[in-house]
Amino acid sequence: MPLHAAAHRHLREQTRHGHRVLAALAVALALLCLTRRAGGEAPLTVDSPAFKAARKLLPERFQRYETSRFVVFSDAAAVWSGQQASRLERVHHQFERFARQMNLQPRPLRHKLVCILFSRRDDYLAFARTNDEAQASWIAGYYAPAADRVVFYDLQDDAGILDARRKLEEMQQEIQSMEREAGAAQNIGLSRQADELRANAVAYRRHVDRERRRLEDFAQSVSVATTVHEAVHQLLFHTGVQAAHVDYPVWISEGLATAFESDNTDLPFGPDREYEPRRDEFFRLLQAGDLLPLRRLVQIVDLGGADEPQVRRIYHQSYALVIWLHRFRRDELRAYIQKMRQMPPGELSSRQQIAAFEAAFGDADQLERAWLRHEYTQLAERPSSQLAEANNDSPHP
Ligand SMILES: [Zn+2]
Repeated sequence: MPLHAAAHRHLREQTRHGHRVLAALAVALALLCLTRRAGGEAPLTVDSPAFKAARKLLPERFQRYETSRFVVFSDAAAVWSGQQASRLERVHHQFERFARQMNLQPRPLRHKLVCILFSRRDDYLAFARTNDEAQASWIAGYYAPAADRVVFYDLQDDAGILDARRKLEEMQQEIQSMEREAGAAQNIGLSRQADELRANAVAYRRHVDRERRRLEDFAQSVSVATTVHEAVHQLLFHTGVQAAHVDYPVWISEGLATAFESDNTDLPFGPDREYEPRRDEFFRLLQAGDLLPLRRLVQIVDLGGADEPQVRRIYHQSYALVIWLHRFRRDELRAYIQKMRQMPPGELSSRQQIAAFEAAFGDADQLERAWLRHEYTQLAERPSSQLAEANNDSPHP
């Protein structure tokens, strides 16, 4: 299921368009809670250009939810909206942990970060198209750098998921009709036939229940992992760890965001933890000899024109690269991130991209050999059944 790529293609374009000036429009909305931040820091103000812009663009039906660091506008169910708000706080917490590990010194948040939640996919798509120039049709959420906000929709309204639910519902009805037939057969004395029909119905029901659980788990994983991914983009740029004016190659922006992905925000997550769906996909590419040469990967700045398998390849490979660099080349990774944010605005040539990479990490081919040696060893130690059993339901490109 392809997700992010299109929005991220737009990420770079939007940064170039710069901030849009939007006038404030006062709309009275309930202030649900205002908590002090940990460590006795002063509460963050909710007021910001991002907040005013969102408030102006959204209809009055949108409720406002606040946590210590986020303000969420939502027309979706209160339970899910609340869960999303607390997930964003968890992302911030893990982001801070990563920043300390890396000694990155992110700038403090200037105000509460803005998130918008849509109950309906159509409204989400229209908003993305009209206000954020994002073609968000194949993704469950996106980050809009110019507007400094993240936007998601409730996957319960995803066409694929609704369709799958409808099919499960039809199967459910078939089971009921099998049971009715069994009853009818019993009534006219065809006991053996009735038993057979009942046994089939039981097996069928087991299958449908299993499929339903798989579907709900999948929707939940996609939703949570997408939330984490997009919020990490927002935090990296808002805190200046990445600079909005810089022409970043895809591997570092997407590598950092994917390295945080998790489908359970109750447990620690970040580049020092694996996200199995990504890890599996990467190993599959490695096993198939389907990786891009590192020297080429680190020069890619634009996904425009890349087909879906290529986009997925770039994301999975960037994920594994950032995980490895974070573990074995941490000082070099810090140096690279720090060097990149001081780059001049405007496009960087391939030559400049590779020069910046090699200034931090040394010769790209040598680094690639060291990295892949490690990955092949890890792959060899993995139980062979594990990869074969995995399905292809990775939630992101
Ligand atoms: Zn991304």
